[in-house]
Amino acid sequence: MLKINPERLLSDLKHLRTFGATGPGVVRLSLSPVDMAARRWLAGRMNDAGLSASIDGVGTVFGRSRNAGPALLIGSHTDTQPTGGWLDGALGVIYGLEIARALAECEETRHFAVDIASWIDEEGTFSGFLGSRSFVGENVDEAVRSARNREGVPLANALKQAGLAEAARVRIDKTRHKAYLEPHIEQGGRLEANGKSIGVVTTIVGIRELKLHFTGQRNHAGTTPMSIRRDAGAALVAFIARVDEAFRQLADADTVWTVGRIELDPGSFSVVPGAADLYLQFRDASALARDGSRARRADPRLQRRRPCERRHDGQRAARRARDDGRRVADASRERGRSARVRSVGTHAERRVTRCAGHRASHARVHAIRAEHRRRQSRFHRRYGRGAYRAGLRSGGEGGG
Ligand SMILES: [Zn+2]
Repeated sequence: MLKINPERLLSDLKHLRTFGATGPGVVRLSLSPVDMAARRWLAGRMNDAGLSASIDGVGTVFGRSRNAGPALLIGSHTDTQPTGGWLDGALGVIYGLEIARALAECEETRHFAVDIASWIDEEGTFSGFLGSRSFVGENVDEAVRSARNREGVPLANALKQAGLAEAARVRIDKTRHKAYLEPHIEQGGRLEANGKSIGVVTTIVGIRELKLHFTGQRNHAGTTPMSIRRDAGAALVAFIARVDEAFRQLADADTVWTVGRIELDPGSFSVVPGAADLYLQFRDASALARDGSRARRADPRLQRRRPCERRHDGQRAARRARDDGRRVADASRERGRSARVRSVGTHAERRVTRCAGHRASHARVHAIRAEHRRRQSRFHRRYGRGAYRAGLRSGGEGGG
């Protein structure tokens, strides 16, 4: 019977936590100095375990078993959201490491090959799923050239700073890698509510993200009567309530939607907001995210204007986005709000993958790639070539 060493496992998890520990959580944004320090430590632990470890050209830490394949690949991520839980991602990576060590310490199993990965940027600091996308063979050169983090630092610069710009990128070896496992903490509390200690992921969700811009008229909050106001903030709030209503009619038990960010301009006690921005994300295994038109069908007023999605020119993505905006404007006018939505900043269709995010199995990786290609070509037919990549770039803030 194979035995892991629980003390060693916990001690590694606790040590990893010290890189970027902040209050109860951890801040380890992809390729930041503290993230790179954690990656170098992790590569060292992999080498100590007898694996051959390296940090690849996009930042993924890969520990390759010295045994011949076929190999089981186990991994997750060690980068975090602006603040992440200390076990988010870290658990899956250190589990893999401990499994590799336990196998190597047992006479009957030491010939097994287990490779370990900590994918870079699963949390989308620069370009979501950068490491795992690169690993399965997706071309990430465009992301490396143009992606930036929130502070505007280009990914290419961050890679150079980390000393990785010239490093080789690790790739899947289909003759070697026969299966992929990603242990991950459950971030929702369903297992606990059901008295279960472990579960198996059965569905990988899609994610859609929209940034909506509302335009009203900035005015004095004391002297402008309610009857003539065009309050962009009030329109935004009414819209959130409408989305809530519409999505509830479509949702199944796993559908979730979130308004993660609201900005009012100018954002002051004494000024009626003249403009407002809203960041809306929804995740679903089937109905909403895989076919956004079903969301529109939920509310006939939202589909009054037909999108121009069949037109073929370079402006299609922008036009489609504006049309979305107009539908929302129609809806908000019917609510008696005179502020309107002028444009939609991004309409990002991320070809994404997870319940709470990450890769679930090797088979899944290929299914995801195939689905990604289908979506990509569908997207290209609708909006033109550059649009999809632009969408991917802008869709970087998904939660892990
Ligand atoms: Zn995670």
